[in-house]
Amino acid sequence: MEKMVGKTKLSLVQGDITLQETEAIVNAANTTLLGGGGVDGAIHRAGGPKILEECKEIVAKQERCPTGEAVITTGGNMATKYVIHTVGPVWSGGNRNEDRLLRNAYYNSLNVAKENGIKSISFPSISTGVYRFPKERAVKIALTTVKEFVQEYNFEEVRFVLFSENDMRIYENELKD
Ligand code: ADP
Repeated sequence: MEKMVGKTKLSLVQGDITLQETEAIVNAANTTLLGGGGVDGAIHRAGGPKILEECKEIVAKQERCPTGEAVITTGGNMATKYVIHTVGPVWSGGNRNEDRLLRNAYYNSLNVAKENGIKSISFPSISTGVYRFPKERAVKIALTTVKEFVQEYNFEEVRFVLFSENDMRIYENELKD
């Protein structure tokens, strides 16, 4: 499914983010940037050790990556040129600024892409795995933030790569409206 928002194509794809050929893919990392499970593990496995080396250099310079912030490395062995690593919030009931922090994760990833002249980018469903952010709520934030951002900066494409059929359905329902 795809939809134009201004000059930007917003698309939904079911599949594996490590296989996307957009200029950048986004990693749902943790604050250590040293790798983890889920999509983070998949990206480091597919991209190879170079990505972890670059992450370590970033950590040596600026320490950990705070929740809601984003940093960039190359894509290592993957088809994508760059990986933008962002850290979504851990869901803990909704009163710990989780909505704002999730918005920041999307916004700052898009902003890092913009700063690097990147025109196409793929996102996973940040925070909705191990971090347990409620899916419908997360999808609304993801789409709203992207739609707002592309009013100011045109990407050729912003793609959401959903791992499960269920996630795909949730995104489709939300993008329809
Ligand atoms: P978080 O810790 O931010 O919740 P997770 O990696 O646990 O991150 O999950 C985020 C989302 O990424 C989940 O919807 C999960 O199903 C999905 N996911 C896991 N592996 C991949 C992959 N290879 N490509 C795309 N999405 C993936």
